[in-house]
Amino acid sequence: MIRGNLFVISAPSGAGKTTLLKQILTRTQGITFSISTTTRNPRDGEKDGVDYNFVEKNEFEKMREDNAFLDWAEVHGNYYGTSREAIEKELDAGLDILLDIDVQGARQIKESGHVKGLFIFIAAPSLKELEKRLTGRRTESEETIKIRLENARKEIAQLDMYDYVIVNDKLEDAIKMLQSIILSQRSRNRRSTSGEPLSLGAITGNE
Ligand code: ADP
Ligand code: 5GP
Repeated sequence: MIRGNLFVISAPSGAGKTTLLKQILTRTQGITFSISTTTRNPRDGEKDGVDYNFVEKNEFEKMREDNAFLDWAEVHGNYYGTSREAIEKELDAGLDILLDIDVQGARQIKESGHVKGLFIFIAAPSLKELEKRLTGRRTESEETIKIRLENARKEIAQLDMYDYVIVNDKLEDAIKMLQSIILSQRSRNRRSTSGEPLSLGAITGNE
């Protein structure tokens, strides 16, 4: 089995990463989304076990002590972590994974070198537009928006760490770009557009 690809995707809050990833998951076969564990409260419409595994702080700390996380970080005052076991299992099964994590987590994965990934940064066209989207989403208080915008500046300053940068100006264009990255990586791995290993025997006539 050819191991799946890990796409590590970061973006300042409000850049449109969730919107973009949902579209990719609907339109692309053979790819899955890694459900992180968090101590933050669910937003309206978010479901436990679907958007995140929502846990209490002491539960998170216990998991962290047990080395259950591939990466973990405190983001905007809450803890977030990626399940090491789930990622390894899915990659071994040949599935591609979209990992939606912050810059600190992406750096941990890159520097640890345990799992190879492709690092993609999604940006809004400007900080002004970012603020507009965060305000327009109506999920955050004014204070939280302020924290998220301050963090955005710090995150954008670390953009060099990423292999790819996608500006989410027109959503359709951004989707196209992300999908192209996923598909071109599959081609490198000798896999089809749907993620299946290519039948090289049939192609070469050496069956
Ligand atoms: P993130 O997951 O990065 O925090 P969201 O996907 O929740 O961001 O998007 C933030 C807001 O911006 C949402 O209201 C979303 O509908 C809107 N949005 C996303 N992409 C675009 C885009 N390309 N143009 C305009 N608005 C967008
Ligand atoms: P939100 O609260 O808006 O869903 O997410 C806030 C931030 O936490 C986003 O930048 C998101 O990418 C990040 N995040 C979500 N899950 C994880 C994770 O498992 N690890 C890390 N390091 N960051 C995460």
